[in-house]
Amino acid sequence: MTDCCIIGGGIIGLSIARELAGRGLSVRVLARDASRDTASWAAAGIFPPAPEYPAASANERLTAYSDRLHRAWAEDLRAETGIDNELGQCGGLHLAGTEQGTASLHGAAVAWRAKGTRCEQLTPFDVAAQEPALRAAVEQGRIMSGLLLPEEMRIRPPRHLEALQQSCLMRGVEITSSAAVRAIDVADGRIEVIRIAGSEGGAATDTVRADRYCLAAGAWSGHLAESLGLHIETRPIRGQIALLRLPEQVLTRVVNVGLEYLVPRDDGRLLVGSTIEDAGFEKITTPQTIKRLLEFAHSFLGPLPNATLEQSWAGLRPGSVDGLPFVGAAPACSNAFVAAGHFRAGLHQSTGTAVMLADLITGRTPALDPTPFAPGRRPGAASPDSVQAYLARAAEASA
Ligand SMILES: Cc1cc2nc3c(=O)[nH]c(=O)nc-3n(C[C@H](O)[C@H](O)[C@H](O)COP(=O)(O)OP(=O)(O)OC[C@H]3O[C@@H](n4cnc5c(N)ncnc54)[C@H](O)[C@@H]3O)c2cc1C
Repeated sequence: MTDCCIIGGGIIGLSIARELAGRGLSVRVLARDASRDTASWAAAGIFPPAPEYPAASANERLTAYSDRLHRAWAEDLRAETGIDNELGQCGGLHLAGTEQGTASLHGAAVAWRAKGTRCEQLTPFDVAAQEPALRAAVEQGRIMSGLLLPEEMRIRPPRHLEALQQSCLMRGVEITSSAAVRAIDVADGRIEVIRIAGSEGGAATDTVRADRYCLAAGAWSGHLAESLGLHIETRPIRGQIALLRLPEQVLTRVVNVGLEYLVPRDDGRLLVGSTIEDAGFEKITTPQTIKRLLEFAHSFLGPLPNATLEQSWAGLRPGSVDGLPFVGAAPACSNAFVAAGHFRAGLHQSTGTAVMLADLITGRTPALDPTPFAPGRRPGAASPDSVQAYLARAAEASA
C-alpha cells in the first residue's frame, strides 16, 4: 500500500511529495486540475526579505526557514532535473506617490531595520538612478519616495513547479491528474478510503487507499477538511495578473507600489499584478481589471509602445482567518495531515511547510515549532497577514 496519498498537486502538495519521497516513502499525488490551473502556477514569485530575528512571529519564522531551504532546493532541483527556477536576489523597490504612502514607507523602513534587514530610503532622484525606466514617472511627480530592499528575491513559479514535478517523478512519486476527490470516508477516527471521480470525470468513482493522507488542496481544503471533522477556513482570494512581453527588459528589480507590483523576467517578460478580491471560486480575469493593471504599468513605465499583452490569468489564494497556514495532524483523524491556507506566501513558505510536515508524518521532531500552525487550533486574532487585513487594504486603495 502507498505510504502517503496527497490530495493537491499545487506547490504545497508537490513539495511535500518530493520531501517524503526523498525520505524513502512511496507517495501518490491526486490533483484535480492541470498544474497550469493552480494558484501556484499563477503566482508572481516575489520573496520579500525573510530575516531571522528574536521577536519574529510564527509566520515570519516559517518564511525565514523556508527562505533558507529554497536556496538549497533551487540548487538541488537544478542538479536533479536540469531546470533552473531562476531563484535570485534581484532586490525590490517599494515606492510611494503620496504623503500618506511616504509615511507608511517610513514606518516600513523602521520595521525592516528593527528586523536587521538592509533597507535604504531613497529620494525620487535615487529611484530614477536605480531604475532609469522610472525616470519619467519621477519627473511627472508620480514617485515621492522609495525604499530599496537589496535582499528581496524572485523565483519563476512555472519553472519551479516543472522542476518539482520532474523531481517527484524521478523519486518515484505517482502523480494522478484529473483526479477530483469526491469523498473521504472516515471510520473509527481514520481515513479508510478516498473516492475520486473516474477518469472521464463522470459519475463512476475510483478508490485510493494509503497508510497516511495529506490534504493540500489550496482554497478547496476547507471544504474537504469537513470530512475529517475539521473546521478550517481557506477562503479563496482572487488575484489577477497581466503578462507583458517587451522587446527588451526595462527593469532589473521588483517594483512594489502598495499591493501592486511589476516583476521583470530576464527574457523581457514583465508581470503586472495583482488584485486582492473576495470573489468566491470564480477564477476568471475581468477586462476592466486587466485594463487597470496595464494603466498601473504605464503610469510608472510610460507608454511602452512595443509591448504586447501576452497573457493574463487569475488564481485563488487560500486565505486563512488569522493569517497563519494550517500545517500538521488532523486532530480527529489519526492518519490524516493538513497543509493549507498559505494565502499570499504559499510559494515562499512551501519548502519549510514540506520539511515540517514530512517531519511530523515520519515521526521526527521538526526544527521549527509546529504548534502555532496546528490545524485544530482556535484561530487567533486577525493579524496584518490575514485575509481581512488585506481585503481592508485593497478596499482602501481602490476608494
Ligand atoms: C496572483 C497571485 C500572486 C501570488 N504571488 C505570490 C508570490 O509572489 N509569492 C508567494 O509566496 N505566493 C504567492 N501567491 C500565493 C501562492 O500562489 C499560494 O499561496 C500557493 O500557490 C498555494 O498553493 P497550494 O498548493 O496550497 O494551492 P493550489 O496551487 O491552489 O493547489 C491546490 C491543488 O489542489 C487540487 N485540488 C483542489 N480540490 C481538489 C479535489 N477535490 N480533488 C483533488 N485535487 C484537488 C488542485 O487541483 C491543485 O492541484 C500568489 C497567488 C496568486 C493567486
